[in-house]
Amino acid sequence: SLFCLIGCETPSSPTSETASSSAKDERVVELLKKMSVEDKVGQMTQITLSMLMKDNQLNIEELKNAIINKKVGSILNVNGVPLSLEEWHDLLTTIQDIATKETELQIPILYGIDAIHGTTYTKGSTLFPHNIGMGATRNPALVKASAKITAAETRASGIRWNFDPALGIARQPLWARYEEMYGEATVLSSVLGFEAIRGYEEDGLDQISAVASCMKHYLGYSVPLSGKDRTPAYIPDTQLREIFLPPFEAATLAGSSTVMINSGEINGIPVHGSKYYLTDILRGELGFEGLAVSDWEDIIRLHSRHRIAATPKEAVKIAVNAGVDMSMVPVDYSFFDLLVELVNDGEVPMSRIDEAVYRIVKLKFDLGLFENAYPEEEAIALFGKDAYKEVALNAALESITLLKNDDKTLPLKEGGKVLLMGPAANSKGALHGSWSYTWQGSDENQFPESTITIKQALENRIGAANVISNSTNDFEDPSNTDIAFLKQNAAKARVIILAIGEKSYAESPGGIHDLNLNDNQIMLAKAAYSTGKPVVLLLAQGRPRVISKIVDGADAIVNLYRPASQGAEATMQILYGDVNPSGVLPFSYPRYSGDVVLYDRKHTEEVTEFIPDSYGGGGYNPQWKFGHGLSYTTFTFGEIQLDKKSYTKSDEIKVTVEVSNTGDRAGKVAVDLFVSDLYASVTPSYKKLKKFTKISLEAGESKNVSFTLTADDLSFINAASEKTVEAGEFSVSVGDKKSNFELK
Ligand code: BGC
Repeated sequence: SLFCLIGCETPSSPTSETASSSAKDERVVELLKKMSVEDKVGQMTQITLSMLMKDNQLNIEELKNAIINKKVGSILNVNGVPLSLEEWHDLLTTIQDIATKETELQIPILYGIDAIHGTTYTKGSTLFPHNIGMGATRNPALVKASAKITAAETRASGIRWNFDPALGIARQPLWARYEEMYGEATVLSSVLGFEAIRGYEEDGLDQISAVASCMKHYLGYSVPLSGKDRTPAYIPDTQLREIFLPPFEAATLAGSSTVMINSGEINGIPVHGSKYYLTDILRGELGFEGLAVSDWEDIIRLHSRHRIAATPKEAVKIAVNAGVDMSMVPVDYSFFDLLVELVNDGEVPMSRIDEAVYRIVKLKFDLGLFENAYPEEEAIALFGKDAYKEVALNAALESITLLKNDDKTLPLKEGGKVLLMGPAANSKGALHGSWSYTWQGSDENQFPESTITIKQALENRIGAANVISNSTNDFEDPSNTDIAFLKQNAAKARVIILAIGEKSYAESPGGIHDLNLNDNQIMLAKAAYSTGKPVVLLLAQGRPRVISKIVDGADAIVNLYRPASQGAEATMQILYGDVNPSGVLPFSYPRYSGDVVLYDRKHTEEVTEFIPDSYGGGGYNPQWKFGHGLSYTTFTFGEIQLDKKSYTKSDEIKVTVEVSNTGDRAGKVAVDLFVSDLYASVTPSYKKLKKFTKISLEAGESKNVSFTLTADDLSFINAASEKTVEAGEFSVSVGDKKSNFELK
């Protein structure tokens, strides 16, 4: 593949791997020979822990039935609430005892969890900003460091399979899972997803600091037309291959061990029932060799929801023959019974079953489960180290994005009282978002005890006596009481901080009808403006809610995304200027809810005589552009230097640009490099992000930043759905500078 990531590194593999993997292969093959059809189909079945609970207690009889009679190979998740480290260990020990001591074949259970943005379901773990914030950091090293910690804390919990990273592209802000994506540009997902996977797996799966990653949700999940979760997407092949496929290609190169399949349908084809997507593209084109698991209860839905299968049995047949290796949460074990029948009837070939079971058992060997299936002492020692908090803090600090800062409102000066209002002011949920000790976070008390809110962080910073605050956590209705309180107390304060945005949500319950921030929060902001005091807006949100009605009145606006465990402390360090903000938008922040134009738009989307601005505004007219983010210092970009003016397709293109800190304090700056193909046989995008990095500069300092482009960075998908590079004129741009070159 021509695919090349930052520095063009390819994953290095331990030298002994070849020898040991063939020995492992033999053990897998030997085991497969001993397995009955039932044993094999059982391995392909993954059940949820809640199926095994009764009155909130683990029901041992049910557990034995699942492992011994139904022969399940994998279990996932929690029963709603996070467990302590000890509770995890007890649970895993009970499970593995049954699997390895009470069954004939003694195959350990593969336990999986959604440790997205940290070890979601273990009390005391460290939670990092959601991916949308990680996209704003433009810092691959931070993503990798966070993933390594997550791997250690997940493994310490006794769990060795993590359903992460999510590699969709955030281009539909109505969608509730937008916060789980790295951003609007494909390369953000490709590069940051690659780093996350290396962070999870590079130590070697049998090591105590590693977990198997799961690239998800393959493919095209993130852009449901209606914005509602798991509803149809319509994606032309050119876009599918150009925008949505590359992160999975990168993840395959990174060595991701497993893939989770999109629950939705593309152009009327459910992905989990499609041989084209699951076998032809995933295996044939990408060369992915790992295990493919369906998403939650999805197989039966080929019948009940998508209606491409007239019966549940037909649904199982279609999914398994298409390439699903493991069924996540088959309702009441129907998958097991039906698949056994299908194999016995010759409707699903044994070779397909063997292929799937080979992958599952191989992964169990790779993870060292056959050597030791239990929580590992040395892994446990890696849980909850103090140093992890610092990585979480740095990630939050580098993600927080200063969108507006009139008259140097920020950094705030110490001294005087602060009036702090808004539904996010005293909310852990608003900082954490989804999958944070709890799935969607409808209950404030479920979030990590150690997380402090914005209010607590402000009190720590300036003293409780200097914080005037009275906020409910009600995002729909910060009531009239809040407005009255705000008006009564404004005179006492030097500045008003309004923490607004979104409560925590996940998946379908997080669906919205309108991208506009609700009227009640808008009214609260307007009430703040009417006091005449300087107003700082903090936005705690998983997606860009439209706030155009309150942008002008604000003196400063700071986007926090979902900064998680250290988010409040990071916010204070930015507000008071201990740290210079360096986050830049990973998306185009929409100005109008009906006007979501993306940064890589076509030229025909620009304002022209066909869509004049006077007719309601056309073109790329976001509130803030993709890549926008202010600093307390100023940066300038020198002219772009190219090593040549004309290249052939086999050349490397060296791009160098001098970046200078022309202000009076040190800071970090994100450097985004865009490529534009000026003319092409498929209408070219206005520009595409191809490379990015982040550097630190002292006041007055300049540094050269170099990037290497290859022909792959100039390619596009043509009308025949093939990747192609056409000769002609191109331009590269960085900051406000642009330079053209020719490709021969
Ligand atoms: C989500 C997946 C997740 C799975 C297991 C599903 O509802 O779509 O992302 O990994 O649940 O919790």
